[in-house]
Amino acid sequence: MQNQSIGLLNEQAAVRTLALGDVRLTYVLDGAMEMDPVGFFPAVPAGHWARHPEALTPSGRVAASVGGVLVQRDGRSLLIDAGLGGAALDPALGASRSGSLLRTLDALGVAPGDIEAVAFTHLHTDHTGWGFTQGPGEPPRKTFPNAAYLVVREEWEPYWRDEIVVGAPSTGFVEPLAGTLTLIEDGQEIFPGVTALVTPGHSPGHTTYVVSSQDVVSSPDGRRIMVLGDSFHTPGQMTCPEWTSGPDTDIEGVLKARLTLLERLEQPGTLGFAFHFGDQPFGQVTRDASGLRQWTPVPTEVLLPTPLLLG
Ligand SMILES: [Zn+2]
Repeated sequence: MQNQSIGLLNEQAAVRTLALGDVRLTYVLDGAMEMDPVGFFPAVPAGHWARHPEALTPSGRVAASVGGVLVQRDGRSLLIDAGLGGAALDPALGASRSGSLLRTLDALGVAPGDIEAVAFTHLHTDHTGWGFTQGPGEPPRKTFPNAAYLVVREEWEPYWRDEIVVGAPSTGFVEPLAGTLTLIEDGQEIFPGVTALVTPGHSPGHTTYVVSSQDVVSSPDGRRIMVLGDSFHTPGQMTCPEWTSGPDTDIEGVLKARLTLLERLEQPGTLGFAFHFGDQPFGQVTRDASGLRQWTPVPTEVLLPTPLLLG
């Protein structure tokens, strides 16, 4: 196919798309983030970054784009996560510039009203930013007016009880969400061929969404793709799952989630999507010559260039 490429780990993502038989996934970019390798990845030894200069930007940070994943099948549209919107990353963790998610969606020919469901991997700020829109003096309204907003119970309840502080979205998200959300369960099919897999650790009910092709014959690249949310923030964590990220809520939980996900990602015909892996969001887990797991990006089509860069 024309225009297929593999991007660089230390660059912001382009709007990339991958067809898996009868289902298509597109990274709908909202903007750019750059993580501080020390502030965001306190458990990663400095030597790792020294050995992997390809993982850092020229300014010495970790490129981590932000946005949502558009899943399209039979003319129907699901959005997984909703970018950072008008919020900003905590400066102790890095820098951000965002706000283009609706423009990206429009350029793809999709209107907010076309989205029939928004499924959240978790409720941190950089995955919920476009959930609600609010004009001056107006109450918040759903940015995607016809969409069901889907969250697993284990994720929703602690935030609603105000228990979680790290990475929590503003009350401007949690309060309006209370009036509209649809609670979902582990293992539930939330859209044709898309199933929720609860993988707690990064957050209390962090959820992976497994998107399956229902057309195995025409899916030579794989039969399912796992939208990984924030269980991993950089490919080095696939080789060394014990390297937690700063905002991880439950260290033991993250390790368990990662091992579960890695085992599943190594199953034949399985790809992954990682929100924050620079311009290598689509890939698979393989083993190197010494048997260590590694992220191997797969070629994907670029539909649009990177919408926003950090200055
Ligand atoms: Zn994130």
